Amino acid sequence: MKILVVNAGSSSLKYQLIEMDNEEVICKGGVECIGIEGSKISHKVNGKEYVIEKPLANHTDAFNLVMECLTNKEYGSISSPEEISAIGHRVVHSGEAFTTAAYIDDKAMKDLESIAHLAPLHNPASLACLKSCKSIVDCPNVCVFDTAFHSTMPKKAKLYAIPYEDYEATQIRKYGFHGTSHKFVSQEAIKYLKSKNLPYSNIITCHLGNGSSITAVKDGKCVDTSMGMTPLDGLIMGTRCGCIDAAAVEMLAEFKNMSTKEMTNYLNKKCGFLGVSGVSSDFRALCKAIEEGNERAKLAFDMFAYQIRKYIGSYSVAMEGLDCIVFTGGIGENGPVIREAVCDNLGFMGIEIDKEYNKKAPRGELVDVSAKNSKVKILVIPTNEELVIARETEEVVKSL
Ligand code: ADP
Repeated sequence: MKILVVNAGSSSLKYQLIEMDNEEVICKGGVECIGIEGSKISHKVNGKEYVIEKPLANHTDAFNLVMECLTNKEYGSISSPEEISAIGHRVVHSGEAFTTAAYIDDKAMKDLESIAHLAPLHNPASLACLKSCKSIVDCPNVCVFDTAFHSTMPKKAKLYAIPYEDYEATQIRKYGFHGTSHKFVSQEAIKYLKSKNLPYSNIITCHLGNGSSITAVKDGKCVDTSMGMTPLDGLIMGTRCGCIDAAAVEMLAEFKNMSTKEMTNYLNKKCGFLGVSGVSSDFRALCKAIEEGNERAKLAFDMFAYQIRKYIGSYSVAMEGLDCIVFTGGIGENGPVIREAVCDNLGFMGIEIDKEYNKKAPRGELVDVSAKNSKVKILVIPTNEELVIARETEEVVKSL
């Protein structure tokens, strides 16, 4: 069974065609600048990249071009669209409408439309892409939500202390994001810990990338996570401020003379590593600036490590124990320096990292960087969100 995984942004569309028999990626690519100048597709297959530059007015144009590449006589991977058994869509926000991956029929389409406003930068793009896919390829479409893995959070963890009837009327609460990643790495960690006869009940997964979030996974289920109603909450990130006093936002808005919308944009795009360091939102650039003695870059780094440590402390209490910490995402997988800073001096919690091995551990595979005497396992696990989407899509399609 071949499944096409698509991930639509407001001006982008990433895709992977996956053969589910062996879970191999047949080809993948991305369309950029949809609806704006400079639109193009980069299609990768068998180690080669094909780039086509072409005006693309909307997601339908973009998806048509994806299908042209997939079925191209010279470098295509399928001879006709019928070879695609299903399309799995990454959708950022599920609101209260969905708690698991869902087959998209007319009713589900209406439900999706009704929650589009909850993630105005993301969900409308997914909807546009979904409509294009439905009109161009005749196969089941399944939505896999970033928020779904977190739907098991108890109310005491997911509600904000606003009047209950306002929560009921607006659905405003903590949802959490990066769910497919937290799900994938926690399941991989459980497999690994089981294979070593180690405890696997209490796991903290740290997804650290441009966007970062931390999740407490008890007995395979999410019980708390750091992002909120939107991905702005929680940790300091590349350009997002993370947790901030809501009343300070009003003060900042007055100082900057900004509207609410402008303020939200500022908190999402101008803050975080970029705002604190004044250097870059990119973790590698931050580390380079630290080496050159930039104190604000060091401050941004220290804030990041400090906040991750605080989450590890609070989630250990939330789960009443800790068996394993997982690092994933661009920074978590490739940044030994942040793993060391996070785990430093936490021996009192049974957390001991093997500093030497952590530095030289191979990349691109599961590695155990905990010291021999560490009670808590410290794992680095490459995430694979597309594979989770493909697996869940397959499961939904098989149950139809
Ligand atoms: P996104 O949230 O956009 O998916 P990624 O998970 O790809 O982001 O992570 C991007 C971050 O990972 C950037 O801050 C980048 O600097 C960092 N990163 C990527 N490769 C490395 C590396 N080799 N060493 C340190 N940081 C890295």
